[in-house]
Amino acid sequence: MSQAKAYAAFDAESPLGPWNFERREVGEHDVQIEIKYCGVCHSDLHQVRNEWGGSMYPLVPGHEIVGVITKVGSKVKKFKEGDLAGVGCFVDSCRECHSCKDGLEQYCEVHNVGTYNSYERDNKTITYGGYSSQIVVDENYTLKIPKNLDLARSAPLLCAGITTYSPIMQWNIGAGHKVGIVGLGGLGHMAVKIAAAKGSEVTVLSTSPAKEQDARDLGAHNFAVTKDPETLKELRNSFDFIIDTVSAPHDYNLYLSMLKRDGTMILLGAPPEPSPVAGFSLIARRKRLAGSMIGGIPETQEMLDFCAEHNIMSDIELIPISDINNAYERMLRSDVKYRFVIDMATL
Ligand code: NAP
Ligand code: ZN
Ligand code: ZN
Repeated sequence: MSQAKAYAAFDAESPLGPWNFERREVGEHDVQIEIKYCGVCHSDLHQVRNEWGGSMYPLVPGHEIVGVITKVGSKVKKFKEGDLAGVGCFVDSCRECHSCKDGLEQYCEVHNVGTYNSYERDNKTITYGGYSSQIVVDENYTLKIPKNLDLARSAPLLCAGITTYSPIMQWNIGAGHKVGIVGLGGLGHMAVKIAAAKGSEVTVLSTSPAKEQDARDLGAHNFAVTKDPETLKELRNSFDFIIDTVSAPHDYNLYLSMLKRDGTMILLGAPPEPSPVAGFSLIARRKRLAGSMIGGIPETQEMLDFCAEHNIMSDIELIPISDINNAYERMLRSDVKYRFVIDMATL
């Protein structure tokens, strides 16, 4: 066992604060990573505040982890001490089911082990995330971080990056497609960068008029404020795809009306409460409503290599860990430019 320093939530209401715990021994197939940076995802906030239910306290959030390997188990093949490494939203899975065999471990049909607030495969040991000094992970669930990426700015690729890359690949979104990105936050700004790099025409659909210039700087071709009913009328029947990254309940029917015939809207945002979808929103022009969750290990590595090739990184605000509670409040006000990343040296 080895000591880890961390910041944890102790219940759904109180601010996060310092907490120490023990990581497991480095096993034969494990690597130990000294965490340098950890991104702050809205999913951290949903779980800290128990908005999805099932939160276990103390809860150490964080699933956008990058750092340096400090120890490797005797059978580790991919990594050596001193290598850069990343960990995303899960740290293990059953390895046997169809999804695991297809490299889609996030959809493991038996037991996908979340990086935090989850049970290990023993169904007893609770997992703790990346707002901590170090982590021990099986090498098969650890990613290689390309050297030409800025380390702090690459942390958000481990969740925001792969979550937006995966549907863009799954639905072959690229040149000739008009794509609407709903919500310009952590996921949204990565969706803009990746969809633009794939050659599609990108429109940001935002509730924040002040984000227009940023949206264009990030690579969007158009920007529309969704609070304005006139703009929305103009956008009817406009998009081949809509990628929805919104964290709070909102009207899906409104955005479905902006799809062309045979268009697809992909939900990535996970608001705690359901929103009704009218049958007519889909049947009138044979539209599709879909969802997608993060990405598997092979695709996450592919995404990291794609980002390295195209020089794509997250736009971040680097914060000390002591600012985390304030960062959550700003995230709730949609005031993030465009991902908070914690400098773990401040722990
Ligand atoms: P974020 O940085 O807080 O961004 C969310 C954005 O949504 C905000 O910046 C805002 O953009 C927009 N928004 C917020 N409240 C809204 C409302 N009431 N109506 C319309 N728009 C609103 O959050 P994030 O980290 O990108 O995460 C977004 C969601 O995705 C969360 O629910 C998170 O849990 C989920 N998530 C899902 C996956 C997955 O695998 N599917 C992975 C990671 C995260 P504007 O100011 O531009 O309107
Ligand atoms: Zn996340
Ligand atoms: Zn499985």
